[in-house]
Amino acid sequence: MEAQGNLLKMKAEIAEDKVEYQLRLSDDLVDMNQLVGKEITLAFQNQINCVACGKLTSKSFAEGFCYNCFQTAPEAEDCVLRPETCRAHLGEARDMAFAESHCLIPHYVYLAVSSGIKVGITRSTQIPTRWIDQGAWKAVIIAEVPNRHIAGVMEVFLKDYFADKTNWRTMLKNELAETIDLDAERQKAIELLPEELKQYAKNDEKVWQLNYPAEAYPLKPKSLTFDKEAQIGGVLKGIKGQYLLLDNDRVLNIRKHNGYLVKLTTD
Ligand SMILES: [Zn+2]
Repeated sequence: MEAQGNLLKMKAEIAEDKVEYQLRLSDDLVDMNQLVGKEITLAFQNQINCVACGKLTSKSFAEGFCYNCFQTAPEAEDCVLRPETCRAHLGEARDMAFAESHCLIPHYVYLAVSSGIKVGITRSTQIPTRWIDQGAWKAVIIAEVPNRHIAGVMEVFLKDYFADKTNWRTMLKNELAETIDLDAERQKAIELLPEELKQYAKNDEKVWQLNYPAEAYPLKPKSLTFDKEAQIGGVLKGIKGQYLLLDNDRVLNIRKHNGYLVKLTTD
């Protein structure tokens, strides 16, 4: 099989208890789970297109933008990374129409376990995608709030107590923190919230568990990039988060290469 297109983070959903990944390359939607255990090659075609405007760019900014879009596109606004800085609820945003559908809608605050336990937020439509992208093993919603700003404020507050910086190496090694009790951690988090935030708490959401398609996990993950080698290939051992796990402990972060034009070849 052969398919070519600009990389975008893999689509993921849960089917029969397992995460299923699909990679869109132009018109082809490649089922990645079925490639686990097989030899694959991704060849960079020496071309990067901006994920927002499509123009050629020599370098990708913030996971796939040309410099101009990085500076102006609503998808690259500061509040994407720092929700507490979102000002859409005050009527201020790069693009209010975008903000209406991305910031001024219900958001969830959650606890997730990737390496350690961390607090995070996401739009209500992004469950469980967000957790899969992070390579979380377990996750639970702890609050539903009306907009992105409040979600960010709650996240900043809880970060003092759930301060894990997800370590991608630990996440990929699949060292699961078996001792963490998310039910108990949720109760702890909710009790910590100040009154004005506690009104949004949810204490009856189910604890999700995510199982990734992987035959083996790397012991000492080594990260690959098309910036250093144009052709990346080997046996696909598994997929976790947005990483392809290749043989010999090599890993490729697909999302980091958003916009890179590649050709995928399989047997
Ligand atoms: Zn652009």
